[in-house]
Amino acid sequence: MANPSILILAGDGIGPEVMAEVKKIISWYGDKRGLVFDVSEDLVGGAAYDVHGKPLADETMARAQEVDAVLLGAVGGPKYDNLDFSVKPERGLLRLRKEMDLFSNLRPAQCFDALADFSSLKKDVVAGLDIMIVRELTSGVYFGMPRGIFEENGERVGINTQRYTESEIERVARSAFELAKRRGNKVCSMEKANVMESGILWREVVQRVHDEEYPEVELSHMYADNGAMQLVRWPKQFDVIVTDNLFGDILSDCAAMLTGSLGMLPSASLGAPMENGRPKAMYEPVHGSAPDIAGQGKANPIACILSFAMALRYSFDQGDEATRLEKAIEKVLADGVRTADLMGPEGGTPVSTVEMGAKIIEALDASL
Ligand code: NAD
Repeated sequence: MANPSILILAGDGIGPEVMAEVKKIISWYGDKRGLVFDVSEDLVGGAAYDVHGKPLADETMARAQEVDAVLLGAVGGPKYDNLDFSVKPERGLLRLRKEMDLFSNLRPAQCFDALADFSSLKKDVVAGLDIMIVRELTSGVYFGMPRGIFEENGERVGINTQRYTESEIERVARSAFELAKRRGNKVCSMEKANVMESGILWREVVQRVHDEEYPEVELSHMYADNGAMQLVRWPKQFDVIVTDNLFGDILSDCAAMLTGSLGMLPSASLGAPMENGRPKAMYEPVHGSAPDIAGQGKANPIACILSFAMALRYSFDQGDEATRLEKAIEKVLADGVRTADLMGPEGGTPVSTVEMGAKIIEALDASL
């Protein structure tokens, strides 16, 4: 059988710096665990614009459709700020999400014990936290028609339309239930069924998918505004949260920040299963290209490395190896190793991007 394939799109700014550490970890899995990946690399964002005059070449898009997983670094930077909207670096990312139809966005909020003091919440509220927000990514109010700014009765009116079809709700609900089966077996669905018809349909369809296909998973429903309160009050009550594009955008940022630094946050975007049964998938850190620290060796590579751990778990069925990698990161943090973004008020000497990567590989070696 062919090796599983990965397309690396490192992008701009700190993207290539953090991705360099991921590449070393991919090689480690080949050398030490016999998990050999067929890795190819290409350009995205400003780096692609510099060469092709657009932020994603058609050949790159075609390659992304063929591989088992895309790993993306970050795109953007001040050099590209004045480009026309149609060729801005972020358009490359949006094209990938759209053409691969990545409808299910997974945003974990996981608190490593060593960083529990970093949260703005009390330590006992966040220590050991491990929840997953599943956000619908390709429909809802960001895409619904009609949209625009129109003239009405002598004044302007801004319109966006919240719109969900049953099949769009069904597929993201399935994705959440499937995830829950591999985790704590609990899904909480969030909408505003009290004031929105799209919320009423959302609730009905999620309940039906549950009753017909996943009766063994525990399902609850919550209004999204209450969900926001509960997330900061006692987040450990949740396992998987599934919600729409708009609420998911806000709730996932809120949940992510429970755990501290942007340099720690991975994400996955999944689509429909391909012929080999694997979902179309793109994995990327939540952070951007961080132009303020790019080229200085200061970036924290953990968000990007954790994104690869998600690829191991959700694309390659290597949950144990994903856990090995997460535990290696936990060990390094517990040992007090910190990049600059993780330095607390007590200070200390931060390690570089490369040093953090090397420490994680040392911990992986020690795990054997
Ligand atoms: P950003 O995430 O790049 O940076 C925000 C702050 O967090 C900066 O101070 C940065 O130094 C810090 N930071 C981010 N990642 C870090 C890491 N791994 N280690 C240590 N510190 C880290 O957001 P921004 O400054 O608003 O945007 C910069 C550029 O990135 C813009 O061009 C923006 O459009 C783009 N962007 C891209 C993505 C993406 O590629 N997915 C996401 C967000 C922003």
